[in-house]
Amino acid sequence: MFGLMQEHPLLVSSLIEHAVASHPGVEIVSRTVEGPVHRCTWRDIHRRAKQAANALTALGVKPGDRVATLAWNGYRHMELYFGVSGMGAVLHTVNPRLFPEQLEYIINHAEDGVLFFDPSFIALVEKLAPKLGSVRAFVLMADRAHMPETTIPGLLCYEELLAAQYDEFTWPDIDERSAASLCYTSGTTGKPKGVLYSHRSTVLHAFGACTVDSLAVSRKETALLVVPMFHVNAWSMPYAAAMSGARLVLPGPALDGASVYSLLRDEQVTLALGVPTVWLMLLQHVSAAGLKPYAELALHRVVIGGAAVPRAMIEAFEDDFGAIVVHAWGMTETSPVGTVNNLLPTQRALPPEQRLDVQTTQGRAVFGVRLKLTDGEGRTLPHDGQAAGHLKIRGPWVASAYYRDEGGPILDDEGWFDTGDVATIDSDGYMHITDRSKDVIKSGGEWISSIAIENAAMGHPLVAEAAVIGIAHPKWQERPLLLVVVKPGQTLEREVVLNYLKDRIAKWWLPDDVLFVHDLPHTATGKLLKAKLREQFRDYRFPDA
Ligand code: AMP
Repeated sequence: MFGLMQEHPLLVSSLIEHAVASHPGVEIVSRTVEGPVHRCTWRDIHRRAKQAANALTALGVKPGDRVATLAWNGYRHMELYFGVSGMGAVLHTVNPRLFPEQLEYIINHAEDGVLFFDPSFIALVEKLAPKLGSVRAFVLMADRAHMPETTIPGLLCYEELLAAQYDEFTWPDIDERSAASLCYTSGTTGKPKGVLYSHRSTVLHAFGACTVDSLAVSRKETALLVVPMFHVNAWSMPYAAAMSGARLVLPGPALDGASVYSLLRDEQVTLALGVPTVWLMLLQHVSAAGLKPYAELALHRVVIGGAAVPRAMIEAFEDDFGAIVVHAWGMTETSPVGTVNNLLPTQRALPPEQRLDVQTTQGRAVFGVRLKLTDGEGRTLPHDGQAAGHLKIRGPWVASAYYRDEGGPILDDEGWFDTGDVATIDSDGYMHITDRSKDVIKSGGEWISSIAIENAAMGHPLVAEAAVIGIAHPKWQERPLLLVVVKPGQTLEREVVLNYLKDRIAKWWLPDDVLFVHDLPHTATGKLLKAKLREQFRDYRFPDA
């Protein structure tokens, strides 16, 4: 017997309609590429998203067509989030930090028909334009005053395009399984692959993000999205904010410590979200400039994900900002929110050291996704906090295949997706990533967690960043090599670092050597690029090996 409830498709357009009905006057604050801070409301985003949908229709865009953006976090990007998906087309957010050859590959692979881009990328698009066969309209996200002399064929002006259109548009009643947006993995190995989110997955994921034991996005928050809208839909925040009425602060291209700090202060941000590398820049700025965030800011939660959060970062936000770090884990393939670390009532009362042990884990699965661990033979491992295995995930906002079936089937017989991460899960469900499976260091038949050593090394007050890779060893198969970037103007010695680590990690995990480097390579999404490091240190041999 079926239930007798109404069936309405879960659509991105329903989010923007809810926003204008429930919180029309809530602000979206953007620091623009042009410089000044721009203020608008959900009412404006709604109106202009409809103008954008009319403009797209006039450009010949049909439901299912791909429309690309190459843009920072800002109000025009928000309008396209809702205008493009709302009219049934697919919003392809392109990560401008990818190499030009990768950009060319993914725009052609997606067969984007229109490319919207910020003024920062004019030179880049000039270079790319002749190679982008499918793009029939290039639109600069600016007003007439900012239109350049350019070689880009028939370049259109965003503001003029919108101004020519009515703000009436009836969102089509499409199948909720239709594609809403597309994001390519950053492709540390091989070609980037497209993850195609549906309307249904996007709305369910936004519900998941808003729940209290997840990101707890609500009307009472002013949220700074340092996490880019060009990568995994900014962790759902544009949608979750439309759903909940959170006030949004969008930082544009300026992500340096000083710029982020001034937005936190001037907009009295309560919730900020981003990857560890941007928070490192902020913490360094605060300490170099002798600022007093505790006194000046209203920040009370910082959601950090995309890479493991160092313990020292959690302490710094707590001590200097009075803010709680909420550690989260996810992937492009998981929309991305998979697990979120909120403390249980009993854990809040733990002594600080033990509480930090919990907070450095990646947290518990958000309702909707399920996790499991398997060994090398595919056998399920217990959730005892000890057994480390391959982390698998399934749920309605997890990919079932890559766009155009690149790479073939990605699920096992029971529908689980192998994340490529190695993790433990404890009896309360707290998942702890110990490594990417390809970064695991295999020493004497056991696994050493490179992330745990990095985390410990980054607790040293003079260490700015650390990376650990496995180096071939004649006796142990592999041993850890620690690479350290020292804070500006400081010096450190190998012995001092090793001494510091001795009490903080298992004895047999102690790196066989420490090398000091000027900087470490990162991917387009801010993760350590270990493949490059392994390549760079391929011929390195330990002194006593
Ligand atoms: P991406 O698809 O580019 O967002 O990368 C996803 C990968 O980033 C995951 O599979 C993890 O390896 C890594 N990652 C994301 N969040 C975390 C986290 N909180 N701790 C450790 N690794 C993370």
